[in-house]
Amino acid sequence: MKQTILCSSVAITAICIIATSAIGQPFPNKKYGQEDKFRQLEEILPTPNSYRGAAGEPGPDYWQQKIDYNIDVRLDDKERSIHGSETIRYHNRSPHTLRYVWLQLDANIFSPESTANTTRSSRGFGAGGRTSIFELESLLLRKTFDGGCKIESVTDHKGQELAKTIVDTMMRIDLGEPLAPGQEFAFKIRWNYKINDAKLLNGRTGFEFFEKDGNNIYEMAQWFPRLAAFTDVTGWQHKQYLGQGEFTLEFGDYIVRITAPADHVVAATGVLQNANEVLTPAQQERLVQAKSSDKPMFIVTPEEAKESEKTKSDATKTWVYHAEDVRDFAFATSRKFIWDAQGHNVNGNSVMAMSYYPNEAEPLWSKYSTHAIIHTLNVYSRYTFDYPYPIAISVNGPIGGMEYPMICFNGPRPKEDGTYSSATKYGLISVVIHEVGHNYFPMIVNSDERQWSWMDEGLNTFLQYLSEQEWQDEYPSQRGEAEFIVPYMQSSNQVPIMTNSESIMQFGPNAYSKPATALNILRETILGRELFDFSFREYSRRWKFKRPMPADFFRTMEDASGVDLDWFWRGWFYTTDHCDIAMDKIELFQLDRNSPDENAVLAKEKKAQRRPSLSKQRDLDLERRANTFPELKDFYNEYDPSEVTEDQRKAFEKFKSELSEKEKAIFENTDRFYRVSLKNVGGLIMPVILMATFEDGSTREIRIPAEIWRVDSAQCDTLIVADQPLKSLELDPYRETADINRDNNFFPPVIEASRFQLFKMRRNAEDNPMQKAKSAVAAAQKAAEAKSTTPDESKSTADAAPSATKETPKEAPQAAAEVKKPSEDPKPKEENKKKGKKKKKKEDANPQ
Ligand SMILES: [Zn+2]
Repeated sequence: MKQTILCSSVAITAICIIATSAIGQPFPNKKYGQEDKFRQLEEILPTPNSYRGAAGEPGPDYWQQKIDYNIDVRLDDKERSIHGSETIRYHNRSPHTLRYVWLQLDANIFSPESTANTTRSSRGFGAGGRTSIFELESLLLRKTFDGGCKIESVTDHKGQELAKTIVDTMMRIDLGEPLAPGQEFAFKIRWNYKINDAKLLNGRTGFEFFEKDGNNIYEMAQWFPRLAAFTDVTGWQHKQYLGQGEFTLEFGDYIVRITAPADHVVAATGVLQNANEVLTPAQQERLVQAKSSDKPMFIVTPEEAKESEKTKSDATKTWVYHAEDVRDFAFATSRKFIWDAQGHNVNGNSVMAMSYYPNEAEPLWSKYSTHAIIHTLNVYSRYTFDYPYPIAISVNGPIGGMEYPMICFNGPRPKEDGTYSSATKYGLISVVIHEVGHNYFPMIVNSDERQWSWMDEGLNTFLQYLSEQEWQDEYPSQRGEAEFIVPYMQSSNQVPIMTNSESIMQFGPNAYSKPATALNILRETILGRELFDFSFREYSRRWKFKRPMPADFFRTMEDASGVDLDWFWRGWFYTTDHCDIAMDKIELFQLDRNSPDENAVLAKEKKAQRRPSLSKQRDLDLERRANTFPELKDFYNEYDPSEVTEDQRKAFEKFKSELSEKEKAIFENTDRFYRVSLKNVGGLIMPVILMATFEDGSTREIRIPAEIWRVDSAQCDTLIVADQPLKSLELDPYRETADINRDNNFFPPVIEASRFQLFKMRRNAEDNPMQKAKSAVAAAQKAAEAKSTTPDESKSTADAAPSATKETPKEAPQAAAEVKKPSEDPKPKEENKKKGKKKKKKEDANPQ
């Protein structure tokens, strides 16, 4: 019995706490100055202006630059170098006059003096006294290989040299005359550089050499000097290319003439303009057929690719490509390429989905790559906008996973004998979905990758998860589900998602998994699918072919859904708080309708049930003075203060008789009121989801919005009203909040069950070379003896010998042990642990 509370609605009637079950300590009071997790973000977000509105949409004065490129590039297969010449047309659509422009020379990252190389961390080098040959070779090569971009000339349209200044991976070109708003400026650059070995100097571009046939696959990206972005938010975005933060680019139109060995097949951003010059009549015919085919068709067959591997032509061919409204241009070229294609209609837009890969990628690639491209276009178009480009390509080569407009590079390949693991199969499907998916974010919804990795990786990984789920039942997605992020959320070396790309720790979980999970939680748990999908589509529509910033995303999602999500962005994107909500205490309240006499009986019974104190038990036979001298006793020795008086009986009867009909009905209430007190241990604000199970076995799902924490972010409570006893309560029953500790999610607490296996102790488990040497001699002797015996005899000897494996019997007796939760299969925890490890591995080989 804790306290008696007066019930205001039924006058003087007392409500009595019948039972109390408490887990843990009472709440501390809310401290003055406690962080307000619902504080609006407007203090942090940039002030809306005429370029970017408060609703998260482009403002009436929104602008962005346009840059058109006309490029000639020659690949030297023997030197493994490229030589280029480009005419760049810069359209100044900003309201500013420009006196210089900045260009990106990304290839300079492969110069030994680059900031990326000189600031490379050596943490991990020689760890445990070991370094692989590969690692050492790569390290030494970085110190000697110069793959930096050699600028031969920069001239204006009259051929006059323009002043240039190179700062690491950036180049400033001073304009002869100021470029006023609305004006255009054309200039020409000639350059060359040596191509990096993509396996040794891993980047997002490079060649792969195949020793057995002496051929290369080239995957060429960041290969031409291109304009840095000039924006209303950053001015010139010329933060150096250090390797992790990707690209901030402008849209424009491209004509690119790629000259390569005549026996090469070239794949590139854009539409091939001269198929009749570079393709055989048979290939042209197959391309026409593939347009209307219902499955991928070979344009270059595996056999034809094998034949090409042998030719090593000295002649060249020039492939001409045209691309409109793209923010970059990449290509791949090799004589090893098989090529398959299938036409696909995306709501009226005819797209050629195509894959290029060597025979080493078979049989995996012809089976999955083009299918995965088309699947991606279908799913992503549904969640964002219809794919607008005419081409979508997936290329196999040295790059593990990297995206460019209309073309992407994907690494997974089977083993040499053509077999492959499930990890390789799903790795390929997932990476193709991911990289093709990047066409939407950031190739079309053109976010600033150099600054914010999550804006493309996070959004794209979220849609990748949805696409994977539509590929097949039980698709082994690695990211997206709330519970997958738990190991990361409880790790210590974290930074908020809102951290510059180059300063992110645990890049994969931070830029990919966490934002993808956050969006999935927003969709499933907070907004619901309908509101989320509408808002996400609206964001995609607003910023298609434009340049959104984080605030534009945050604002649009709120603007379109009608839900204040500032607490969500604050928790998930601006902090490293994790979700750990704990069930702290459950109290049961019932309306007391007893008469004073009934209550007196109950009180006596309760008192009688109470065990006497130890002293009282031992003092039972104590000689008391009042017994020895009875004259010491008076009225108070007999008086029982708990005895009901006539006045109390009358007062109770009077209270009942004066109740109105409505009040009588309330007085008859037999409901049970369970107050559930919750504690926010992790700090992250999340909705409260409860599953109540009642005495008759029925269940009730209770979903409470995150606003339950709005007054006090550390503690809250909710009331469950039931007409029968509550048997158990589970917090977050579908594991949808990424709660990192589920031990405090159950009422009553449950015993966790686990099993252990018995094995015999190995007493000599330590390394014992002397014993090994002795055993080897004995084994040799035994073998010599066995040679001189019959086979049957040798068999019986072997059977009789105690086998080492017997020390760990296969069917060891198992015993239940350790106090754990019976309701929870111990397996998931094990699997979680494994997943955590597996994930770590996967993050290392992250697609980009
Ligand atoms: Zn990516």
